[in-house]
Amino acid sequence: MATGYSFKCLQTLFLFVLIQNGLYNMEYENKLPESKYECLLFDVDDTLYPLSSGLSVECTKNIKEYMVDRLDIEESKVPEMCARLYTDYGTTMAGLRALGYDFDHDDYHRFVHGRLPYEYLQPDAYLRSLLNSLPIRKVIFSNANEAHVAEVLGRLGLEDCFDDVICFETLNTQNQTTDAPIPTTSVVGDSLEPVGLVPTSPIVCKPSENAFQLAFKMANINPHETLFFDDSIRNIQTAKLTGLSTVLVGSSQRKSGVDYALESIHNIKEALPELGELVNKSKDVRKIAIETPVEA
Ligand SMILES: [Mg+2]
Repeated sequence: MATGYSFKCLQTLFLFVLIQNGLYNMEYENKLPESKYECLLFDVDDTLYPLSSGLSVECTKNIKEYMVDRLDIEESKVPEMCARLYTDYGTTMAGLRALGYDFDHDDYHRFVHGRLPYEYLQPDAYLRSLLNSLPIRKVIFSNANEAHVAEVLGRLGLEDCFDDVICFETLNTQNQTTDAPIPTTSVVGDSLEPVGLVPTSPIVCKPSENAFQLAFKMANINPHETLFFDDSIRNIQTAKLTGLSTVLVGSSQRKSGVDYALESIHNIKEALPELGELVNKSKDVRKIAIETPVEA
């Protein structure tokens, strides 16, 4: 009994010394003991807010309008072309550039995103509280441009919930284009089966594996200790290949490459009790740290 008490005293004293010397951050832990994850990686559109917001529909309308008005593409061909390019290249923009259309990226983003009815999005206090309760590093990984990401996060009231942002501008700095098509594979059970290619585009974006590798490098992410949230099954399947654990958001249906499926980002803790435990462990660590001076 006395030995156990002494050991506890030593343990807490050691922790107190670490805290005093700034070697142990009790307010923010990148990786708590026994946690599988050191980072949570989030897509933005249709992931941090629901598809039902209507913002994506408006975005698609703007893209089609851009194709007609600025690129002089025949209007009757635009709907199918828009959908096909999105499917094949990850974004319609990447597909248009791959086909040889030359346009100013900033002008495209202003036209497509700058005119969106952002008032469709409302502050999400529940998600904010949820994210802030998870004592783990959080990074945004979006194909959209910086201004759009900032506007969405601001409208949702989440602007200060993330530690880093990987977006269009960070992925598409000079000389970051792919030189060769990146194979996309379908995950069936534990085996990986090649099903096609993400064609080459001058634009780097999900689901290209190159985009993921760049994001890992830029945000110092170890994919084997990171949980990735996205509403796109293609993004999820590439993510799985890179070693990420995956959460498909917006659907409760598990598919190949999907580790977890959530109807809503609000359901994180229910679907992932491991993350719920992180909150409890964090509280325990803080409690010990506060009690330490008294015990010591
Ligand atoms: Mg999305």
